[in-house]
Amino acid sequence: MSFGDIFGGVPEGTWVAPGRVNLIGEHTDYNDGFVLPFAIPQRTEVAAARGEDGVWEAWSALTGETIRFTVDDLTPGAVEGWGAYVASVVWALRERGYEAPGARLAITSDVPLGAGLSSSASLESAVLGALIDLGGLDVPVEERPAIAQLGENRYVGMPSGILDQSASIRCREGHALFLDCRSLEVEHIPFDLAAAGLAILVINSNAPHQLVDGEYAARRASCEAAASALGVPALRDVPLDGLDDALARLDDEVLRRRTRHIVTEDDRVLRTVELLRAGDVRGIGPLMTASHASMRDDFEITVEQVDVAVAAALEAGAYGARMTGGGFGGCVLALVETSAADEVRGAVEKAYAARSFTPPTTFTATAAPGAHRL
Ligand code: ADP
Ligand code: MG
Repeated sequence: MSFGDIFGGVPEGTWVAPGRVNLIGEHTDYNDGFVLPFAIPQRTEVAAARGEDGVWEAWSALTGETIRFTVDDLTPGAVEGWGAYVASVVWALRERGYEAPGARLAITSDVPLGAGLSSSASLESAVLGALIDLGGLDVPVEERPAIAQLGENRYVGMPSGILDQSASIRCREGHALFLDCRSLEVEHIPFDLAAAGLAILVINSNAPHQLVDGEYAARRASCEAAASALGVPALRDVPLDGLDDALARLDDEVLRRRTRHIVTEDDRVLRTVELLRAGDVRGIGPLMTASHASMRDDFEITVEQVDVAVAAALEAGAYGARMTGGGFGGCVLALVETSAADEVRGAVEKAYAARSFTPPTTFTATAAPGAHRL
């Protein structure tokens, strides 16, 4: 099925936007901190054409459904289900003063849904690109992630940070995206794994996502409470060499652990960037592993399946391994010699089988381009 089968005629163009993995820097985005994602080859494609003013129709190959909404539905809650992600983009553009043209959108995607690879941001970013170009809207690229994020936060109702949309829109092929989530300044850090003889395995734990939304909101609330108790705008403002003092001033053990994760994680991102700038890709392994321990012990966002995958990958010779994404399931990244990739994958599969977990699914990630028109 394609655009013509659904809507008739031919599309005016096709816009794509990738999913992402975050190399390091988890839950730091809404603390005004640092993240380092790269785009993966899996992406959402939107074949689109202008339609009647004030009317949007979207078909997704994944659901087989066509949804329709009009300007009257541009209030949060009016469109639900997956269509909300499409409507959220039209709504958010309008909130920022841009009128999206009416459009027909045929959507296909190979980004696994709900696996922590950000299928939602890839959908929003592809739709955003299509509407901007079809309408001839002059929206600077630096402004685009915040528009997609606004839609996801307020129209869909997910309180996510700026990481996912920034990665999907701003990443470059062969590079990781070093993003300062306060200034929104970016630096494209060369990240050519193949040239170094290395690979990143993305191991989908296939663990059922549990309590994700509630736990995510709880982590955000804890970080805000800690920042406010410490009298800083965000936990990003607690320097690493002031961490012990800050912890001594917090009387709640949970807030202390959450704070320690964010402050040390920001530092790990900065150290990872330094190593990559110096061309030492293998050197980032221990930082990845330390990040995982911090997410497991201090931020408490991992589950048994991801901890088992990390341990098995390290035991089989990975330089480093960590969960990527918001947590409570999702994917693990393992940095390995290309020649060791099969062995590491096999070790994780074996560890899962021994515990009767649902088998993991694994692919090798390369740093793909961000959103663009084909
Ligand atoms: P993630 O972004 O980690 O994949 P989310 O829960 O944030 O997980 O987003 C997943 C949701 O995004 C799906 O449940 C669905 O509503 C929507 N979605 C993403 N891609 C598509 C698509 N191609 N077609 C329809 N809905 C999609
Ligand atoms: Mg998402």
